[in-house]
Order: sequence, then C-alpha cells, then structure tokens
Amino acid sequence: MLSRRKLIKRLSTVPLLSGLAGGAIPFQSALAATGPKVPAPRDLFKELGVRTFINAAGTLTYMTGSLMQDEVLETINYASKEFCMLDELQDKVGEKIAKLVHSEAAVVTSGAFSGMTLGLAGILTGMDLKKVEQLPHLEYTGMKSEVICQKGHDIVYNHALTNTGCKMIMVETVEELEKAINERTALMHFLHIQSDQGKIMHEEWVAIGKKHGIPTSIDIAADVPPVENLWKFNDMGFSFVVVSGGKAMRGPQSAGLLMGKKEIIAAARQHMPPRGFNIGRGMKVNKEEILGMYVALEKFINQDYDKLWRGWETSIALIENTVKSIPGISTKVTVNPLGNHTPTLKISWDVSKTKLEGKDLMEAMRKGNPSIEVGGGGKDAVNVTAWMLKPGQDKIVAARLKEELSKVS
Ligand SMILES: *Cc1c(COP(=O)(O)O)cnc(C)c1O
Repeated sequence: MLSRRKLIKRLSTVPLLSGLAGGAIPFQSALAATGPKVPAPRDLFKELGVRTFINAAGTLTYMTGSLMQDEVLETINYASKEFCMLDELQDKVGEKIAKLVHSEAAVVTSGAFSGMTLGLAGILTGMDLKKVEQLPHLEYTGMKSEVICQKGHDIVYNHALTNTGCKMIMVETVEELEKAINERTALMHFLHIQSDQGKIMHEEWVAIGKKHGIPTSIDIAADVPPVENLWKFNDMGFSFVVVSGGKAMRGPQSAGLLMGKKEIIAAARQHMPPRGFNIGRGMKVNKEEILGMYVALEKFINQDYDKLWRGWETSIALIENTVKSIPGISTKVTVNPLGNHTPTLKISWDVSKTKLEGKDLMEAMRKGNPSIEVGGGGKDAVNVTAWMLKPGQDKIVAARLKEELSKVS
C-alpha cells in the first residue's frame, strides 16, 4: 500500500488531463477536502476560447450531439485502461446487443452513416475478400451496383450508400419499384423519418424485397425514442437497420449500431477495422466507443421513459408559459411521431409588426449570457426542445427568451 503522502505526491504528477476523464474527479476532490491542494482540472474550452452553451435546440451533429451520462463516461475511462482484441470485443458486445434489439447480429459502427455504408458493402461483397478490396469500383466485378429508394426518402445521408460505388435509383410507386428491380439491384433502402413522404410503407417495402430476393434496409438514425423502434424494424424483417448512438441514446457521438442478418453483419465486418484494404478502414471505433455504446444502449432500454417524458413536458410547459403571455407571441407544442420524438415548442410572432426575425432571436440568444442555442423555425419563429437541457436550464432558457421577446413586442 502506498502511504497517503506518497499517494498524494503521485497524484499530483498525474497529467492534468486525467481530471477530465470522469472517474478521477470525485477522488481528487475528496482528497482536496483533506490534503494539500490538487490542481483543478483544465478548462480546455476556456483555454481554447471555444464557446459552450445551453442546448435548447436538439441532438445536432454540429452542436456535438448529446451529452454522455456518467455511467457511459466511466465505462469509457474503464475501457481505456486495458488492451483487448478488437474483433473479440465486437463479437461479444455484438451478441449482447443483437439480443437486446431482436436482430440476428449487430456491430458497433462509427455512427448510423457508416452503418449504412458497411451494411451495403457487406451485401455487395459477402465474405469474398477480393471483392472487399475492389470497392468502391464495381464495374466488371460481377457485383451488383444499384440501390432503390423512394423519391421522398432521398436525403443527404444516402451518400453513405453511394460511397460503396452503387448508384441510387429513385422510384415513387409500387409499379415503378417493381420495374426498377433488376439483376443489378443490391438493396432497397427505406428512410423511417420521412416514411410519410413516400407512397410505400415499411411492411410493403419489406414484402416486395422478399418477393424479389432483394435485401431491405432502414435508416432510423434519429428515431429513438420510442425505445421500441430499436427492435420494431428488426422484427418486421428488414435485412439491416442503422441507428445513431450519440443522439437521444446519449452514447458516444462517434458511435452507432448496425443490426441485421448474420451474414450481412459478418460481411460488413470484413470492411471494418482492424482490417484495412477496404472502404471502411477510416470508420474506426475502438473499445471505448464499443463499450460506451453498449452501456448507453442498456441504459436507454432500461430507463424510466415515462418519467423522462414527463420531465421534458414539464420543462417545455415552463418555457411556454413564460413566453406566451408576451403580447404578439404565439406558442405551439408538437411532437414529431416519426423521429426526433420529443415535445417541441414553436414560438412565433408577426414579423410585419416587429423587425425581429427568427435568425435575429437565435443570434441574440447565442450572444447572451449564458449562451443558448435554440432551433431555427423559419422567418417568424424559433423551435425549442428540452431533451438536451441539464436540470435547471429550462428556467434560464425561459427567462432569456422572455427578456429578448419582451424587447420587441
Ligand atoms: C443523424 C442522421 C444520420 C447520420 O447518423 P450518424 O450517427 O451521425 O452517422 C443518418 N440519417 C439520418 C436520418 C440522421 O438523422
């Protein structure tokens, strides 16, 4: 055993950064109460002059997504202290995750986007390593080269699919879909959050895929909660499903899940680190993200969702009640049933009567103290969500909105 004095001496030589790594903080502060002063953890945001803010906007990549919970951070810290074989960890964690989400197999990827690339890559090549090396060049390889998707489901993230070398074929009706299917068709891809903008719904999409022997995939990146969505589409029969780990699940922002058929996941892993000579070598997740994602998923599934929801509702009601009494201000709370499923408060006004536009209010909130990000709502509105707020921040957001809105009404 180390004597206390030696221990303290040793601790004081630990690099300052260790104070940031979650687990070290309580220990240091416990010592600080009794022993000599331990240097405070570095405030790197301050040191670098990087603005931090209250996030009343939502789970947005450019705002760094979500905040991991202590258990996830402790897991990351724990994982960082040992070596293990990357494949063995993916095997074992994958088995556990697959059980939780009702899929045959699963793997932690570097986000939903890479899950789409890797899932499709696996379908194109199977376990054939020569084909794995050929991607993204599909011509004269015998590999398929087309992905069918509904026009209403065509979003920027479909680039994840064209990264494999495939091209997208857009269809609108069942008739067009049946006509588009040919010997080059590798996959039929579906986008859940815009399912209301397509004519073909999930079950029919899967059924048509099955009828023609074409695998089907679905992007549900931002579509949990509800937690059931984690297994609903695996149960429905999609060949693979991708979800983001760092949105509402509050796992590592650089992680996500690829879930699906055994042979697809096994083939997708041929495109993943530790293997190189493939299109996925840059989509690395290490033990910290893999275990952090696993723990975040477990926590997300086991949490008291009703309580969480009531908390969001309470915060949104508080903000709504604070601003709606301001003359000229209208409020409305909606919940998108398909994705980003959380109470969302739209605060709007008559732009012709004030000079204030949505972007001006956003800027004023951003420049205020503390800095607050609210969501854009067009020319005459902003949108506010509570799911990324820390306890007590709802009152701050409400007061600042009132202050700014009262100036112009
Ligand atoms: C966020 C998002 C993605 C990308 O997910 P990452 O986990 O950041 O890779 C893909 N599709 C949709 C619909 C999304 O909202």
